[in-house]
Amino acid sequence: MTQAAPVRYRIHPKNPAAHLFEVCCTVADPDPAGQVFSLPAWIPGSYLLREFAKNIVTLRAEAGGRPVAVEKLDKSSWRCASLLESGVEAGATLSVTYEVYAWDLSVRAAHLDTTHAYFNGTSVFLQVAGHEDRPCEVDIRAPDGESYAAWRVGTALPRLDAPPYGFGTYRAEDYDALIDHPVEIGDFALASFEAGGVPHDIVVYGRQHADLERLARDLKVICEQHIALFGALPPMERYVFLVMAVGDSYGGLEHRASTSLLCKRSDLPQPGESAVNNDYRTFLGLCSHEYFHTWNVKRIKPAAFMPYDLSRENHTRQLWAFEGITSYYDDLGLVRSGLISPESYLELLGQTATRVWRGSGRFKQSVAESSFDAWTKFYRQDENAPNAIVSYYTKGALIALALDLTLRAHTQDTRSLDDLMRALWTRYGAPGIGVPESAIEAMAAEIAGVDLDDFFARYVHGTEDPPLHELLDHMGVHFALRPADNAADTGGKPGRSTPEALARRGYLGVRSASDPLGARLVNVFEDSAAQQAGLSAGDIIIAVDGLRASKDNLEKLLAPWPPGSTVGLHAFRRDELMDFEVTLQAPPADTCVFTIDHNADEPVLARRRAWLGH
Ligand code: ZN
Repeated sequence: MTQAAPVRYRIHPKNPAAHLFEVCCTVADPDPAGQVFSLPAWIPGSYLLREFAKNIVTLRAEAGGRPVAVEKLDKSSWRCASLLESGVEAGATLSVTYEVYAWDLSVRAAHLDTTHAYFNGTSVFLQVAGHEDRPCEVDIRAPDGESYAAWRVGTALPRLDAPPYGFGTYRAEDYDALIDHPVEIGDFALASFEAGGVPHDIVVYGRQHADLERLARDLKVICEQHIALFGALPPMERYVFLVMAVGDSYGGLEHRASTSLLCKRSDLPQPGESAVNNDYRTFLGLCSHEYFHTWNVKRIKPAAFMPYDLSRENHTRQLWAFEGITSYYDDLGLVRSGLISPESYLELLGQTATRVWRGSGRFKQSVAESSFDAWTKFYRQDENAPNAIVSYYTKGALIALALDLTLRAHTQDTRSLDDLMRALWTRYGAPGIGVPESAIEAMAAEIAGVDLDDFFARYVHGTEDPPLHELLDHMGVHFALRPADNAADTGGKPGRSTPEALARRGYLGVRSASDPLGARLVNVFEDSAAQQAGLSAGDIIIAVDGLRASKDNLEKLLAPWPPGSTVGLHAFRRDELMDFEVTLQAPPADTCVFTIDHNADEPVLARRRAWLGH
């Protein structure tokens, strides 16, 4: 039996200054009736239609030395004319050559300039209709010119005919694998370590002087923590952390054997430092999150994603589990591996809970609905989002916590969410079976040994807050809600204001941003003083009681007015000056703090140690 011919790609950063890749896709045995090609409309892991084909600037086809006519079928696909009708000899291969404009510095697309090249396959590699299961070969070419002599290649794509980190040919078992291995090309920094018997690379693009040896040591501990939970890494040749370090950005996207990360260069560990400061803790949490996805969502996948339909939205009500449980384990992995203290972990948990408690949208949308509508709501948030939707990440993480503690409580601490994750891995992830929509709930009940329908009805399909007070009490952790000290208070720590100061603090109920004219309202919270007075998102407050306002002094200007008092505000709506009489409210208790009870009984301490690993 002969093997089907691979689909061959060649990608060349042809004109870095113009941000243009030239890509060629060659098919040995195209559809005789006319071969169809398409580019994905979205990238798995980021649930928004991005219509990557809009960045294809030119496209032409040829076969047997003759041009072949190409017809655009819709926003993302093309059909080449039948080779027979194009006068091409039988058996000729069909090549489509196209230019891709790459100027999106995110983890979701492609970016090319004179400092580096980065791409996801979803942005650059055409899908050949009917050939999706064929193996793929990619010839990654260096840009032309001496100034690029130091450039090399960082990717988890297996090498076919290329030196380590070198230009040449790489392979993928099919199109799905091809687009799941992002590639960084440039004069990057590199650090390596081993975890679970698999080599791991950290590839860092950007101007930075980080302590990469320390980063490698710390990531090894985190990776081994997650590997120990699941038992082993899924089969892979290597795992690669692709990091783009810039002035100010944040993002991550998971892949089967790598992750793309975007961070502030100050989030990376600096030479001479040894403590885990808040910035580095954020970065480690991001790495931990994406690595956990290696199992949860890359292999334990919703059935709705098997296979992905890359032309349209793929709906599932389960993102709360795939993103929420992953968000729960990201910071939990840091405390369990000893990189941060339980107090530091609880501060992070308090910040997550604060983000949930500050949105009244959580009473209107369940996390199951938020998952389903991710494409049009969570990924397309507008100024009303805090009032209308809930995040399946943050509330999903709190539900994961509540589920973990519930499983422990029902089983006398013999089973936990760890067991649920292992069971999902064994039953669905390892054999490559999609997770049906209610399977996680059924499996959780199986592990708990009791019916959990009420739990899922209330917190996942309903809009109730998870019962963290009672569950955490059992762990010797106290959950308290308090008003925010000020607009910069992100929660997680005891408040600094005295009760007298809080009693005097009038609350407007907005989130604002700087504007040359004053304080621009980003969000106006439901039923807040600002909303009741008629202020709207987009309005620019220019004066409070006749004094010029800015984002930075807005709270100070309001300080003399206690709850219940009325103050005059001037604001621009578009170019129209308006005045408002605002009756300030008492600040809501929407800031979450978790504190450890150090005097708890020994059984409680034992439970807490089993949970946090300390
Ligand atoms: Zn995630």
